[in-house]
Amino acid sequence: MLKINKLHKSYPIGDSSLHVLKGIDLSVEEGEMVAIMGSSGSGKSTLLNIIGMLDEADEGEYILDNVPIKDLTEKKAAIYRNKFLGFIFQSFNLINYKNALDNVALPLYYQGLKRKERIETALFHLEKVGLKDWAHHLPKELSGGQKQRVAIARALAANPKLLLADEPTGALDTKTSHEIMAFIQSLNDEGKTILMVTHEEDIASMCKRIVRLKDGVIMEDAFVEQVRASEYV
Ligand code: ADP
Ligand code: MG
Repeated sequence: MLKINKLHKSYPIGDSSLHVLKGIDLSVEEGEMVAIMGSSGSGKSTLLNIIGMLDEADEGEYILDNVPIKDLTEKKAAIYRNKFLGFIFQSFNLINYKNALDNVALPLYYQGLKRKERIETALFHLEKVGLKDWAHHLPKELSGGQKQRVAIARALAANPKLLLADEPTGALDTKTSHEIMAFIQSLNDEGKTILMVTHEEDIASMCKRIVRLKDGVIMEDAFVEQVRASEYV
């Protein structure tokens, strides 16, 4: 589904620069559920944003669904991103003055769907996350867990092939985090490919594979099952 080779990214800081990603190689197959781990500032969000086509690498190759991203024009890239990728963020990023239903329906507007179709699709996805009865409530009337469920429904509305999540449980208490993770796992069980960033070990261990970033490179890439098995030896 995605293949990254020798990816580099630096940020300019005054006269010098901060070299954040120093040659990342990563492949993810369809149907995987992968956690990107690392301490704060290790470049997890930078990598996820490049994968999500929200930012560009300085060097290296990035192929998504057999398409080299660098070769796309900006317009094609935007179409591709809307069609292919769904995003979930730590701070939910809902629109405060729109109710749950309209938040979920909004991305479908950019897909050119008619209002009736947008509402039907949004309701279907709100029901899937267990919030159909909350469709007409504003974000401020929802709990953190409910807000993240709305954000997940929004991310799923356009049926993306790849779901990207940056610290999706970072703003939630432990119990709610585990409920959200269980829901994300159920999406993976249905076949959705998921790539998420977290700095929490217990959240990462609910994924199937953990990729650890340190000092700009991948220091470990292992399936959770293998890690668990080796702990019992
Ligand atoms: P993580 O998500 O692992 O906490 P980030 O990818 O957000 O790490 O950031 C990696 C490093 O790059 C940090 O030191 C951060 O301060 C720096 N950084 C991130 N974005 C920018 C930016 N737009 N400009 C300058 N420095 C940045
Ligand atoms: Mg981050």
